[in-house]
Amino acid sequence: MKDVIVVGGGPTGFITALGLAQAGVEVLLIEAGEDVIDSPRAAVYHWSTLDGLERLGIREEAERIGFPKQDYLWLVRKTGERIAYDLSVLQGTTRFPYNIHLGQDRLAKIARDRLQKLPNAEVRFGTRLERLSQDADGVTLTTDKGEELRARWVVGADGAGSTVRHQLGLAFEGFTWPERFVATNVYHDFESADYGLSTMVIDDRWGAVIVKIARDGLWRCTYMEDAALPEETFLDRVPAAYEHLLAGQGDYRLDRAAPYKMHQRCAEMFREGRVVLAGDAAHVTNPTGGFGLTTGLFDAYSLWPTLAAVVLDGADPGLLDLWAQDRRQVYLERTSPQASAYKRFVFHANGGGAELEAALEGMRAMARDPDVRLQRLMFTKGLETASPVETAIPFPAYR
Ligand SMILES: Cc1cc2nc3c(=O)[nH]c(=O)nc-3n(C[C@H](O)[C@H](O)[C@H](O)COP(=O)(O)OP(=O)(O)OC[C@H]3O[C@@H](n4cnc5c(N)ncnc54)[C@H](O)[C@@H]3O)c2cc1C
Repeated sequence: MKDVIVVGGGPTGFITALGLAQAGVEVLLIEAGEDVIDSPRAAVYHWSTLDGLERLGIREEAERIGFPKQDYLWLVRKTGERIAYDLSVLQGTTRFPYNIHLGQDRLAKIARDRLQKLPNAEVRFGTRLERLSQDADGVTLTTDKGEELRARWVVGADGAGSTVRHQLGLAFEGFTWPERFVATNVYHDFESADYGLSTMVIDDRWGAVIVKIARDGLWRCTYMEDAALPEETFLDRVPAAYEHLLAGQGDYRLDRAAPYKMHQRCAEMFREGRVVLAGDAAHVTNPTGGFGLTTGLFDAYSLWPTLAAVVLDGADPGLLDLWAQDRRQVYLERTSPQASAYKRFVFHANGGGAELEAALEGMRAMARDPDVRLQRLMFTKGLETASPVETAIPFPAYR
């Protein structure tokens, strides 16, 4: 019997498994795909998440493969107004006063490679969980190969459609938006058109999030379309959308693109007996503002020390309930409302008029006043919660 089986090899699963294994827990991670999935999703890691990566010993590598950056631009499409600010005001507040831009598959792969080097960790790709049941001593997982695996604890990090959550019979409460997000990775010269390395284009029709994601000139351009349009032909509509969205000079080369349904949904509980949910398996948000995986990373950073204490030190499993309540509250009270407000601002221009003007005035104040800026930048730090056992856990043994 394993100490812990982590279901799902996305960034939440690999980061949780790495923390557990570094602390000395016997971990098996199973992932349905043949390797880490590389669809275009999270690309921005807020400064507040970097301490957690540093603690796991992977911040430097993430920074080297992606890149650190500080500047932001809010561009009002109809008026051409540009509101720019940077993160320098964070200096003195944190060791890492910048965000990192990096595809989430690359982050997961960094954690995967570290995990696979540890003697107490095992990773099995091409292994899909189909059924799960629990008893007083542990959890039995049945895979698509008909294999039965046993663990004392299970972490469900298997994304929005979580089999673990379904097997627990937990409701995924919330709603689905009527629009579809289209995330495209594209080589195009946004910089010569004076776009910031991270630009939010505010518009009620052609709002977009445009972010440089790799040193080689690859950008993420995300926009919205009506979810009533047929999903299977979304790619045919990309060139017409680009006529509005690509403000740079010259050609483009589309690298990849994917359509996404958007939801604000949260599991009714994040712990049920010997099973916990983390990341998108526990909560999903529309991606405006980049708070989805940020919240998932903070789940992982506080989960692994808590679960390690339960497994290794015989700590009270009730601590996992405290962890679960904290994380659920963060999603419901902070992540989801703020991501929804940002979506309305960027992609619907707040309905225009006085409401738009008030939001823009808030952004202008942020750009001109360092105190306002610091206060607003601290928002993503507020998505973090400490592990209920944090002080009892030594720094990871392995490096
Ligand atoms: C366009 C877009 C842009 C985004 N940008 C950002 C951003 O900049 N910043 C941010 O913080 N967030 C962002 N997000 C959100 C982010 O992508 C998600 O929050 C993130 O993927 C969650 O990671 P995860 O590991 O929890 O789940 P996932 O990445 O979904 O990983 C789950 C894994 O579980 C596996 N799996 C599923 N079922 C099973 C099973 N039965 N058995 C075994 N394995 C299984 C899957 O194959 C998958 O590999 C964005 C999302 C989108 C759509």
